[in-house]
Amino acid sequence: MNTGQKMLDSAQALIKKTAEKMNLDSEMIKRLVEPEYVHEFSFKVKMDNGKDKIFKGWRIQHNSALGPYKGGIRFHPETVREEVQALATLMSIKCAVAGLPYGGGKGGVAVDPKTLSKAELERLSREYVKKIAHFVGEDIDVPAPDVNTNSEIISWMIDEYQKIKGYKSLATFTGKPVSMGGSLGRTEATGRGGLFVLQALIKKIIASTPNFFDAMGTPTPLKRKKIGVSANLEEKVPSLENITIAVQGFGNVGYYFAKLAEKEGFKIVAVSDSKGGVYVKDGLSVEKTMECKKEKGMVAGCYCKGSVCDIKYGRTISNEELLELPVDILVPAALENVINEKNMNKIKAKIILEMANGPLIEEAYEYLSKKGVIIIPDVLANAGGVTVSYLEWVQNKAGFYWSEEEVNSKLKVMMERAFEAIWEKSVSRKIPLKEAAFEVAIERIVKAMV
Ligand code: NAD
Repeated sequence: MNTGQKMLDSAQALIKKTAEKMNLDSEMIKRLVEPEYVHEFSFKVKMDNGKDKIFKGWRIQHNSALGPYKGGIRFHPETVREEVQALATLMSIKCAVAGLPYGGGKGGVAVDPKTLSKAELERLSREYVKKIAHFVGEDIDVPAPDVNTNSEIISWMIDEYQKIKGYKSLATFTGKPVSMGGSLGRTEATGRGGLFVLQALIKKIIASTPNFFDAMGTPTPLKRKKIGVSANLEEKVPSLENITIAVQGFGNVGYYFAKLAEKEGFKIVAVSDSKGGVYVKDGLSVEKTMECKKEKGMVAGCYCKGSVCDIKYGRTISNEELLELPVDILVPAALENVINEKNMNKIKAKIILEMANGPLIEEAYEYLSKKGVIIIPDVLANAGGVTVSYLEWVQNKAGFYWSEEEVNSKLKVMMERAFEAIWEKSVSRKIPLKEAAFEVAIERIVKAMV
């Protein structure tokens, strides 16, 4: 079975399980599971050698009850229809969790973009748009970047779309460069949104269990610090012992999350990228680690002097070790399925913030939830990205643009509101946050469907 099929089975099983618990009838469950449209097509691209090459592409529109379909376009050699469908399905849930007026969609092309020249990549992006142009639009389906696609690719896509349509429609794609109508604050939005959710959770935990973090036996020398996003939040958040965080992944999501969390007073003790990581028991400097990564091309080995790593100040660790560190909060922000049946019983963190999509397999999720680990599900934790995409769309439609501070404060309100609804559901129904998130999302979608 391909991994796309596994992803699809697990997304559909989760929706079915939740919907059955909610006593929805079988026809409604079918409508929640099945995509509304599956567009599958082949298209040719002129390569630099003058020959045509055929590529396979998809745009899958899962559910539009809450609004236009929303979701990225990925370019990846292993992309298959089932994977795109699974991601489109999860976008319907994520947008509903985030309280956005959007349904879920996703696009993809089976291609390894690293094998293409820049000119070939541009032609491929434009040919893909020729295939989807007649069924996307600012009030129909709003694509964005995803794996291996970025703001430059989106700028080619929107240019092609506008040529085909013959009119300007900036709101049809989000993730544009700021100079073309993109939103300020989008780059950091996913990390920042995850931090807002984490801070909201900590406030709830401390209110009910003031010694939650002390009780864990935080392994570092303790120094009182305040955790809060702003002066007025700090008033509501009690002083806490240093809370330690390990972050797997030092790309867009992991880096900005770690940087902003450190600024808020959390102690980042470990970060890693694909080549390994560093562990600094007393807390590392995220900025210095990034400077070192830029210089060396990797995080591993930062905090080493010459060939000797100073154990007192920090040591090089593998990605597997990072996940098993004695920290308060673990933030997988790189890949899917990294916490699985092999390492689930070695996880020591009390809170897991799922910043990557699907970092825990179902079995690990069940095991750790039963053990009392609080898992903030990906559909909530990393919804900051799509939330600022929504703010980009709103700005494009209104022709009125906000400052970065305005975007960030709107993001904060929206993430906290999304968290609050899920927390309430989790407390009232005595279910983990992930089940609560799916229930809240399905309730909202069903309400809009009937
Ligand atoms: P990215 O490509 O910018 O960064 C990925 C990071 O993971 C890099 O530091 C890379 O070195 C590291 N990595 C790769 N393989 C690894 C491995 N085996 N072990 C540890 N680290 C490894 O990607 P990103 O945009 O930061 O996305 C990370 C995750 O967050 C993905 O699951 C993505 O789907 C999800 N996500 C991203 C956004 C967004 O706005 N960028 C929004 C929602 C979800």
